[in-house]
Amino acid sequence: MQKAVVINTGSELVEGRTLNSNAKYICEKLAERGFVVKKVLMLDDDLDLISSTVSQELLDNDLLIITGGLGPTEDDKTREAVAKALNRSLYVDQELANKILDRVKKYYSKIPENIVKQAEVIEGAKVIPNEVGTAPGQLIELPGKKIVILPGPPQELIPMFEKIVNDLKASEDLIIVVMTFFGIPESVIDETISQLEPSKEIKVTTQATYDNGVKVRLIANKSISCKVNEFAEKLIKKFKEAFVGFGDLKLEEVVVNLLKERGKKLAVAESCTGGLISSRIVSVPGASQVFLGSVVAYDNDVKIKVLGVSSDTLKKFGAVSQECAMEMALGIEKLTGADICVAVTGIAGPTGGTVDKPVGTVYIAVKYENNCQVIRLFYPHERNIFRMRISGHALFEVVK
Ligand code: ATP
Ligand code: MG
Repeated sequence: MQKAVVINTGSELVEGRTLNSNAKYICEKLAERGFVVKKVLMLDDDLDLISSTVSQELLDNDLLIITGGLGPTEDDKTREAVAKALNRSLYVDQELANKILDRVKKYYSKIPENIVKQAEVIEGAKVIPNEVGTAPGQLIELPGKKIVILPGPPQELIPMFEKIVNDLKASEDLIIVVMTFFGIPESVIDETISQLEPSKEIKVTTQATYDNGVKVRLIANKSISCKVNEFAEKLIKKFKEAFVGFGDLKLEEVVVNLLKERGKKLAVAESCTGGLISSRIVSVPGASQVFLGSVVAYDNDVKIKVLGVSSDTLKKFGAVSQECAMEMALGIEKLTGADICVAVTGIAGPTGGTVDKPVGTVYIAVKYENNCQVIRLFYPHERNIFRMRISGHALFEVVK
């Protein structure tokens, strides 16, 4: 297995001013390509620290990805630090310098002197062009090892990484199978995985998310693809009802694709989720083909006046009730004429629960053809986690 280390430099990272989103992006991409990321290190803009870390990590790893510190300012030290670690010199690539100057001329009448610093290349490195900003990246090949240096701004780093990622294939040919399950706790899936005793050659990992269920990832050498697929099938058989599909799926995408396939239209009435279900659906390109609209009926008056929920129902059963959820679904159906109507009403908290209906209680109604089914769930979480969970569950009910 090829081992990788990600080194993110920048005082803004270690001082907590910027979230290290580059690490998340790079780690995900490397894992997809079969690298085992052993460490992620965040380092201050300190030449000696960066340099000694690079020397140290090179001893034991096959790939180093270093981000940040490629700009023209005093605190940008990555080029120099890596050159020092490799005991190589830096030279100014004149063609690169001209390109940078041409670009900068468009924005500045007086060109800052330090700008050419960005055209410094480590001896033997291949330049990775930067189409978005001025600082190019660099790729250094050592016997059996690679070092990639990329700029910090994600809008520059991502397209540059995409360009070189094909050169970074881990030597081992891997099969990666990802499955998405919904409505089953991660611990239950994990227990079942142990009982099914997967081959030791298959690396099995699980990941619980608030909004898109539990992901199970199987990684192994391609030579045992059959064993991997067999194991995936066994697991799916155990959780047939909860299986959403293969891949790291987003429920909103699954819903939109399914409705497109079936030629059906969806509408939503939301109370406690406050529009989150609708927002997730419209985040998917092509949602307009299947999504008619929604009503966020947070207040009882809106439930009555817009969705036609009866005031008697609200008085007798309350807004968080099976009856109210059903009337909300019927109401949005009447308003939109959608084929599938979903309604959600619940208590997000932190206040407002009762003994019968504590904080975290929620009802989800799904009206399809002549059938309106309501389920009661209990998700006692912080209100925004509650919203994510409920929106996921409501979308899952459409997929089922
Ligand atoms: P520049 O020419 O913009 O200075 P650079 O390669 O020197 O490029 P940095 O100075 O390290 O990059 O970072 C520039 C900006 O990019 C930071 O202020 C921050 O907003 C963003 N950034 C840097 N590193 C990260 C990271 N690991 N994750 C997310 N954003 C980052
Ligand atoms: Mg910088």
